[in-house]
Amino acid sequence: MKALLLNPPGDKIYLRDYYCSKTTKSRYYYHPVDLLYLSGWLEHKGYSIEFLDAQIRMLGFDDTINKISNISPDLIYSMIGQASLDNDSRFFGILNRRFPKIPIYLSGDIFMTQPDEVIKEYFPYLKGIVKNFMFPFNNIKDNFSIPLPRHDIIHDKRYFYPFLSTNKFATVLTDYGCPFNCSFCLIGKQGYFKRNIQDVIRELKYIERLGKQAVYFSDQNFTALPERTIELCRRMKEESLIFEGVAFARLDQISEVLLDSLRRVGIKTLIFGIESFNQKIRYKTKKLRLTDQEIINRLKMVKKYGIRTAGTFILGISDDSYENWKRFLIKLPLDYISFNIFVNRNDLKPGDQSGDKELFDDKRSFELIRMQKKLNNFFYFYHGKIFFVIKNNFRFILQAIGCPAHIL
Ligand code: SF4
Repeated sequence: MKALLLNPPGDKIYLRDYYCSKTTKSRYYYHPVDLLYLSGWLEHKGYSIEFLDAQIRMLGFDDTINKISNISPDLIYSMIGQASLDNDSRFFGILNRRFPKIPIYLSGDIFMTQPDEVIKEYFPYLKGIVKNFMFPFNNIKDNFSIPLPRHDIIHDKRYFYPFLSTNKFATVLTDYGCPFNCSFCLIGKQGYFKRNIQDVIRELKYIERLGKQAVYFSDQNFTALPERTIELCRRMKEESLIFEGVAFARLDQISEVLLDSLRRVGIKTLIFGIESFNQKIRYKTKKLRLTDQEIINRLKMVKKYGIRTAGTFILGISDDSYENWKRFLIKLPLDYISFNIFVNRNDLKPGDQSGDKELFDDKRSFELIRMQKKLNNFFYFYHGKIFFVIKNNFRFILQAIGCPAHIL
């Protein structure tokens, strides 16, 4: 029996994995973790695995359907997203009409909140949804182990992650979910489950054998339990599993000992969700109970260990005054920034928990997109970060302007 893992085509470049869909204007694209971790389970169940990433291969609907026809799978596992819903419902409608007998299973953020309505309205022919790609066939439990994901198949030279200097990288998860519960985020609502450390080591040994030089730890928060992260780093060091690494972390969890452990296993960049220039909003959304000065001090501490700092922010959850954002950005010792625009969903309003509903009223999206561009320009061009970025991301810039991955 043949299972096809499919990243569907799009009218834009969509990232849809790990229950968080968005578009990306830059050409960064990493391994879709839902499909990656499903690959091990499906193989474990006796399926032979085929993989088709129509997004990274820039295939349109017709080309993708033709390739699927050539593969002739017995079933298809794929992904959809709230950000790509119109596109995805059109594509899977066509796919189903063309191959009505092939069962389709889908994973996606939109099933997390209103599965029945979404299936009824957009995907009535669906065979099933994947509620947990990490543990799809049983209830997930803490300290879990999983079959080795097929990094050798879920692979493409064109995958690229901006903070890594090589495209010989793997995307790895060491846990599932998040122990925090920030009011604007779906992931915290999934619960939190640790993966057995020995099981993570087994996967890292495997990717080392495949010749991978770098790892994007795609955990929502790689330092979710700092003591565990320190133990994982200790085991990695013991096994000489040193990769150039990038990971998400929380500023309120870092410490000297944690940073030293991360540095020793090759972590070169940490990405921190700072979210708002407004301390009140940071507190109320339960994201970050730190003052501006505490944020600055902690970022300085990270840099002391030779680790680059990236900050992510959300537009649409505060008053978004350009001057306020500018004043805040200037103060922060950050090497990179990334602004996202809040997706205002009925079930997921920061105001639900903060009591500041008026702050989260719908804003016209073009205003936020304009603000996003203005702030990026301010940070990288006027604030003088552009030379740093060029120096550290030369390969990424070449790829972004169209240089083929195989010659980088
Ligand atoms: S720490 Fe990050 S992943 Fe966890 S709930 Fe908050 S925003 Fe979501």
